[in-house]
Amino acid sequence: MKNMNSENISNLLEKQREHLSRREFIQKTSAGAIGASLAMCGWWDAVAQEFKEDESLPKEESFTAKDMKYRILGRTELKVSEISFGAIQIHNTGLAPLNRAFELGVNYIDTASGYGRGNSERTLSEFLKEHRKDVIVATKWSGLLGYKKEEPHITTTKEELIKSTEDSLSRMQTDVIDVIQIHGAKMAEQVNAPVVQEAFDELKKAGKVRFLGVTTHTNQHKVINAAVKSGAYDVVLVAYNFMSPKNHKEALDNAKKANVGVVIMKAVKALRPLAKSTTPKSVLFQGALKWILEHDSVSNIIPTMASVQEVEEDIVAVSKKMSYGQRRALQFYAQAIDRDYCRMCGTCTENCPRGVEVTDILRYRTYYVADGDTAGATSLYRSLTKDQTVANCDKCGVCNDACPYHLDVVEKLYQAHAMMA
Ligand code: SF4
Ligand code: SF4
Repeated sequence: MKNMNSENISNLLEKQREHLSRREFIQKTSAGAIGASLAMCGWWDAVAQEFKEDESLPKEESFTAKDMKYRILGRTELKVSEISFGAIQIHNTGLAPLNRAFELGVNYIDTASGYGRGNSERTLSEFLKEHRKDVIVATKWSGLLGYKKEEPHITTTKEELIKSTEDSLSRMQTDVIDVIQIHGAKMAEQVNAPVVQEAFDELKKAGKVRFLGVTTHTNQHKVINAAVKSGAYDVVLVAYNFMSPKNHKEALDNAKKANVGVVIMKAVKALRPLAKSTTPKSVLFQGALKWILEHDSVSNIIPTMASVQEVEEDIVAVSKKMSYGQRRALQFYAQAIDRDYCRMCGTCTENCPRGVEVTDILRYRTYYVADGDTAGATSLYRSLTKDQTVANCDKCGVCNDACPYHLDVVEKLYQAHAMMA
């Protein structure tokens, strides 16, 4: 195996930083800017060249279902494929990626009632007609767990949660949902809402759901720790990757100790600026997936795989340990995006004196810019109340000062508003 020449890559990274002045580097935050600047300085070509000669890397064409690895999803005791399937785009991509993933041993599918306004679940129904008994299905009560600061905090009723579940069952044309989840909890009050347990108990008694989960993008460590402490949750679905802060890892370890299943989303989100690269991006993407699989707190990952090629590239991540070259490439890449990548820690939102939903807006911006989901991102932004949007921001700069990672938050917010308002 030929290791990556770290000195060479380091020099190229410096050149990349020089290519954009410091201020430009912080401000040019469109997804393409980082990828393009890396490409222009030759950084990415050098990485690609090193990997071309690395014979130890697994080859996609030789992977079959017998190579898939499985882990136990906490106390559910379900055996889930290490690489599973995030179905957020399935209504746009069609079923070809999922069919291929299934052929290669994937057995866990995550969707939500809100994905494509129910169209993800509707599209999935076609697949489930043939394969329902062979797969585990997780979905979410999208957008239903309303929260306000005043008592009572939770505005959603048990009946609404039950109806949401029944609508999901109907759209997917199945009798039971394996894991039903709160969608995007931001605080312990949502996790601990009695209405969730009441709805879940009733649905479980009726045989309509099997396990309870919670998903989170914001204040994740607080949400996970609250879910673990409550003892009510079987699964947590968490945004986690090689850029995540330490307290997220600690929360995942707490979940593991409590035998709560840990499912990971947004595993390769930080790499999206490279998605349109012509060089073998799969190497870095596989590295990012392997980085997560090195954590034994993790049960499985649900990457969004939009094509058969992406499925074949991602799934290989289970077959070998991360190479030295992949680890170095991830480290250098992490340095390159350090001042640009939002870790979704929620600190800016907590500190905003005007109640702007800063973290959510930056997440929608990522959907728009990095994922190219302009319609979905715009719809999410427009679903906020006016006071929660940038229209209510007075540019006080508190969010900039509060960000532990020194992002230019205000700049990003105004970009987001210009694109999605
Ligand atoms: S600059 Fe805007 S978003 Fe940031 S803290 Fe001030 S009001 Fe809130
Ligand atoms: S902008 Fe900074 S403070 Fe806000 S969520 Fe992202 S990383 Fe955290």
